[in-house]
Amino acid sequence: MRYDVVVCGAGPAGATAARELARQGAKVLLCEKEKLPRYKACGGGLTGKVWSELEPGWEDAVEEGALRVVFYHREEAPVEVAFDRPVVKLVMRDRFDQMLVEQAAAAGAEVRDGCRVEGVVEEEREVRVHTGQGVLPARVIIGADGARSLVARQLPFRPSRALGVALEAELPVSPSVLEQYRHRLLLSYGSIAGGYGWVFPKADHLSVGIGSFGRQVKGLRALFQQFCHRLGLPASSPGYLRAAVIPSAASGEAILHTSRSLLVGDAAGLVDPFSGEGIYYALRSGRLAARAVVSFLEGKGDLGSYSESVQKELLSPLYHAGRIAKVVYSLTPVIHRLVRANPEVARRLVEVLLGSRTYPELWLYLKARYRIFR
Ligand SMILES: Cc1cc2nc3c(=O)[nH]c(=O)nc-3n(C[C@H](O)[C@H](O)[C@H](O)COP(=O)(O)OP(=O)(O)OC[C@H]3O[C@@H](n4cnc5c(N)ncnc54)[C@H](O)[C@@H]3O)c2cc1C
Repeated sequence: MRYDVVVCGAGPAGATAARELARQGAKVLLCEKEKLPRYKACGGGLTGKVWSELEPGWEDAVEEGALRVVFYHREEAPVEVAFDRPVVKLVMRDRFDQMLVEQAAAAGAEVRDGCRVEGVVEEEREVRVHTGQGVLPARVIIGADGARSLVARQLPFRPSRALGVALEAELPVSPSVLEQYRHRLLLSYGSIAGGYGWVFPKADHLSVGIGSFGRQVKGLRALFQQFCHRLGLPASSPGYLRAAVIPSAASGEAILHTSRSLLVGDAAGLVDPFSGEGIYYALRSGRLAARAVVSFLEGKGDLGSYSESVQKELLSPLYHAGRIAKVVYSLTPVIHRLVRANPEVARRLVEVLLGSRTYPELWLYLKARYRIFR
């Protein structure tokens, strides 16, 4: 059996690419190494930008909506920004991702779980995808296999990404503690170098984590326990405590295609280097990849249009996110004083996440007012 496209990895990027390709009539295999649905360490925060990328019915997977975002410095001195409608909607990734996989299957993609891609060989006329279930020939492969992407390592791409680390737990808490966090996201910087800690409410527990965009952080578990302790959260018996790699977009031109392959989502390093948001970029790159592959299969040019559209639409604005991150994470006490004195800064930041403002606009706003942003 020869496929038009094998998509490696059934997260949001892969499932979206598979769905869009199948809708265009391509013969698609969506290949996932885990048994589905699978757990994924993630805050599960869907910002306003994501919502319009999703198919009707997606809100069935929403567990909670956040109306307030509270910024802390070292778990102290909160600054709350309140909105009259939810700014972030929260999901559990097993359920959310499964919904996307089912949409891909309904569109006609073949879904194989428990099927690990073990190697990829690109030849002139096809790609040979080696899996635990045999070798699959295809005209194109899409690497949607996340932060530790095998496809990215095996073929000559040049993603422009940095790798960081995170630790996250699904924390069972008492009803009164859960109530405290209802409709509220907590973000706290200053306790971990180059990143932040978070508490996101879910229907019956809290997703709590700490992460850094730099690779050098040591003693992540101790930092996590300290973070929980300072917030009065029980860190001793967390469910699903998982360490994970967080890629993030770095400056510089990214080459995300070869002659018969593309990288999408985390595999391509498409994560906001300031907030860590990655689901939007996964969904969006999945769509852009499908569009480029359809043209390629119809004989209308090569896959280079994909790298160009990702650079223009996704990576260029993230360049400014990286500039803001550099200042904020190196000067957290100064930044927190500034945010306390002018909560408009925090409000504008949340509006960027919502999609009603952009990072380039936020950069210009900060640069015009504060000398540290130069
Ligand atoms: C702790 C943490 C918290 C986060 N919180 C948020 C948040 O609140 N909001 C947000 O927007 N983003 C968040 N992110 C980022 C977000 O989780 C990712 O950007 C997003 O999951 C990327 O989607 P993806 O489809 O590219 O990759 P993934 O979701 O990682 O999916 C990749 C899939 O590929 C499969 N796979 C891997 N290797 C193979 C192989 N060899 N063969 C077959 N299958 C394979 C994996 O099992 C996995 O299912 C967070 C990340 C972390 C680590």
